[in-house]
Amino acid sequence: VVGLTFLIDALAVTNLQRIQVIGDAEKLNVVRQHLYHELLFPVEPNFEFRPLPHSAGSLELQLETVRDPQTVPARLTWFPLEHPGGSLGYCLEVADKKLAYITDTTARAEADYLRHLSNSDLLLHECYFDDQNQEFSEKTGHSWLSAVTEVVRRVKPRQTALIHINPLAELLGNGFSLTENHRSNHKMLVAEDGMRIEF
Ligand SMILES: [Zn+2]
Repeated sequence: VVGLTFLIDALAVTNLQRIQVIGDAEKLNVVRQHLYHELLFPVEPNFEFRPLPHSAGSLELQLETVRDPQTVPARLTWFPLEHPGGSLGYCLEVADKKLAYITDTTARAEADYLRHLSNSDLLLHECYFDDQNQEFSEKTGHSWLSAVTEVVRRVKPRQTALIHINPLAELLGNGFSLTENHRSNHKMLVAEDGMRIEF
């Protein structure tokens, strides 16, 4: 959420003409009231806020690409995830490619969101904790590695990049690393800042 403020800079240094911020209506209200409050943020961003009307659904979008001013049609699907305070998962389909974005949730093999992930070319899935922190994962509404691996094993995305990893893990000595089985059999990798993934 904090990164939303940096989107103003993205408008300055790319060919993007406009930015739509799409999300849960209550969450967008809180973002506007607090993150962009005039006491913290001097100018109201000229983003288009697009609150989603229900907890699940889909809509058609016209996406601008960063490299050229063309727009491409896309379909956005959203659905609720298990998390204190609620969160949404998203799938974005452009041409014959499907990107799935799952963050701020506890991965479970029987979770309802798995049915939205079939045929994903790239799954971005949160993996905040290692397997030693299952209890804390559940308490904070996050995922641990073996639970995410089980989700990947079931839905078989063509690639999976792990995101939203505990930034303190290295300092606290409870980080995880992927095995050859994760990388080769499940096509999983740990996302890094600045990484570009072709899919
Ligand atoms: Zn989180």
